[in-house]
Amino acid sequence: MVPNKFPALHVEGKENRVGEGIYDRMNGVGAHEVFIENPDHNLTLSSLPLKSVEDTLWAFHQRMTDLKQDNRFKYVLIFKNEGDEAGASLEHSHSQLIALPIIPHLVQEEIDQSREYYGYKERCIFCDIIHQETSDKNRIISENDEFVSLAPFAPRSPFETMILPKKHESSFLLNNHFKLLAEILQKTLKQIDRVLAMPPYNLMVHTSPFHDETNNYYHWHIEIIPKLTKIAGFEWGSGFYINPTPPEEAAKFMREAVI
Ligand SMILES: [Zn+2]
Ligand SMILES: [Zn+2]
Repeated sequence: MVPNKFPALHVEGKENRVGEGIYDRMNGVGAHEVFIENPDHNLTLSSLPLKSVEDTLWAFHQRMTDLKQDNRFKYVLIFKNEGDEAGASLEHSHSQLIALPIIPHLVQEEIDQSREYYGYKERCIFCDIIHQETSDKNRIISENDEFVSLAPFAPRSPFETMILPKKHESSFLLNNHFKLLAEILQKTLKQIDRVLAMPPYNLMVHTSPFHDETNNYYHWHIEIIPKLTKIAGFEWGSGFYINPTPPEEAAKFMREAVI
């Protein structure tokens, strides 16, 4: 792990929240780190030795545990941009981490909706989804003892994929099945590479914020979005996404991929 050479946020200093009329301003305080997944320049996360994938996941966990001690940080976002069009500015296979003084809007929205669902059903919505999807099988891509990889019911883009722990787990920090996670992650990426001829993609880890690490309603997961469609006026203007590939078809292609 190394600090990002061109960090989006700076680790020193205070947030210094100030009001400017109706607007709020704060300093870009945070940590921006880069994980070099393997010394070999020619490999990608899907072609690395499995051990390197597992070690990378462990490194995410260790850095997150460490950054949690800094009480300026409320959330750590782990992500990966693969390929130029997905925003990667380095060729060598790497992932990134940004520790933030606020909870990202998208994560907060997922948390709020999950909490609301829990409020009237007393069940975690992600556990319910996993239960239904593993019985239906139509949108399941692969499974092992601890994790499932699936095409979500309403994907924002073709071949959007989610990997979730099968048993309820609110935070990535509670995970201790790194080998099985590495296995399903690498298998999913190999399937994507096979079906879509190594597309650029973005990968994100969504987890509970530090202050609410253990809860009954939010369930950590990995989202993978291959970059196949363009975000244009309709999407920016509406927040709706046009997806030409039904998730059942995407899951079937991925299941049948010879990897
Ligand atoms: Zn759950
Ligand atoms: Zn999510």
